[in-house]
Amino acid sequence: MNIFSSIASMRTEVNHWHHHGKTIAFIPTMGNLHAGHLSLVDKAKCLADKTLVSIFVNPLQFGPTEDFATYPRTLEADQLLLEKHGVDALFCPSIEEMYPQAHHMGVQVTLPCIANDLCGKSRPGHFNGVATIVAKLFHITQPDIAIFGEKDYQQLCLIRQMVRDLNFPINIIGVPTVRETDGLAMSSRNQYLTSQERKIAPLLHTQLKWMADQIKAQSTNYDEFTELAIQSLKSYGFQVDYISIRACDTLNLPSSQDTHLAILGAARLGNTRLIDNILIHTNS
Ligand code: AMP
Repeated sequence: MNIFSSIASMRTEVNHWHHHGKTIAFIPTMGNLHAGHLSLVDKAKCLADKTLVSIFVNPLQFGPTEDFATYPRTLEADQLLLEKHGVDALFCPSIEEMYPQAHHMGVQVTLPCIANDLCGKSRPGHFNGVATIVAKLFHITQPDIAIFGEKDYQQLCLIRQMVRDLNFPINIIGVPTVRETDGLAMSSRNQYLTSQERKIAPLLHTQLKWMADQIKAQSTNYDEFTELAIQSLKSYGFQVDYISIRACDTLNLPSSQDTHLAILGAARLGNTRLIDNILIHTNS
C-alpha cells in the first residue's frame, strides 16, 4: 500500500491510475478504523480497480466544545489494517496541507437547511465542515465511486445532494451499518463509554428497532411512539438529542405517500454522543 501525505503526490498517483484506465473507489475516514470502516473497504474492492482510503481528522467539522483534540488517532494500527485488507493507497495529509490558511478562513460548501436539522441542530456548522472537506478530497482523489456508511445517514444524504447539485461525476454508494453483537453501531467514539454506559448503549438501537416494529405493525401514531421511545431512553440515563421518523431520501417529515422511511436518533450517555438509524420500507 502506498501512503501519500501531500496533495501533489496523491494527484500524481491518481493521474497514473486514470492514465491506465483504472477505476477508483474512495473512502474518506477520520481513522481509528474498525470493522464498520473495513466493510466500506470490502465494498470498494468489489466495485473498482483501485481502493483509496483517506484518514484526516477534519477540524472544520468539530464545534468548539467537541472532541477534536481527544479524537482517537491511531495511524500506525490503521495503516496495518488497511494494508492487510488490500487497500491500494492511503491519503493522510496534515491539517496544514489541507488548510494552508486557517481552516475557517477559506471557501466553504454551504448545504441546504436540512443540514441544520437532526444532528445539525446540536452540531451547528458540522455538515458544512463535512461537505467542505469531502469536496476537497473528491477534487484531489478524482474517484469514480465514493463509499459512505449508512451509520451516518444524514451525512450520506447530504453528500448525495452535494454531488448532485455540484455535478461531481461520482457515484455515491451507501453501506449498511456494522454492529457489535448486542446491536450497538460500531463507532470510534464507543471507546469513550464507561463500562456501565457500554452496557446501556445498545438500548438506542433497541428503541429504534421497537419503533420500526410499530411502523411495520401499521401504527401511524408516529409522535406517540417516538415520545415513548424518548422517555424510555431517558429513564436509562440517556440525554436524548432527537428521535425522529423521516422520509428516507429527503429527510423531511414523512407524508402518507412516503413508504421508505428512516428512523434516526442521537443521544448522549455521559460524555459520549451516540447516533444510529434504521431504514425501513412500509407496506402501504
Ligand atoms: P468516520 O471515520 O467516523 O468519519 O467514518 C468514515 C466512514 O465510515 C463514514 O462513511 C461512516 O459512515 C462509516 N462508518 C463508521 N462507522 C460505521 C459502521 N459502524 N458501519 C458502517 N459504516 C461506518
